Amino acid sequence: MRKRSDSETNNTGMKPETAGAISRRTMIAGAAMVGAGAVCLASTRAMAQSKQKQADVQYQGSPKGADKCGGCAMFQPPDACQGVEGKISPEGWCSMYTPKA
Ligand code: SF4
Repeated sequence: MRKRSDSETNNTGMKPETAGAISRRTMIAGAAMVGAGAVCLASTRAMAQSKQKQADVQYQGSPKGADKCGGCAMFQPPDACQGVEGKISPEGWCSMYTPKA
């Protein structure tokens, strides 16, 4: 078998030392992307876990016309809400009201 010289290329069409450099670069870029993904996931979780304060969304313990928490897509029986902190009455209402589909 013939020994390959430094000026020859490997099966990637690149010089062997060049291909190694790209491989290391690719690994570093991949590690950076994994790190960025972890930060993004953590911030998405933080957003999903944070609820609005009742005062900030004008929560009231009574309906607004026909609109009330019991008919809202975010209401979680018996007395919670996906988007608002604290105890929520099914007869209450807030500015985030979203009718059930
Ligand atoms: S009206 Fe507001 S407080 Fe009531 S369930 Fe919907 S988002 Fe939550």
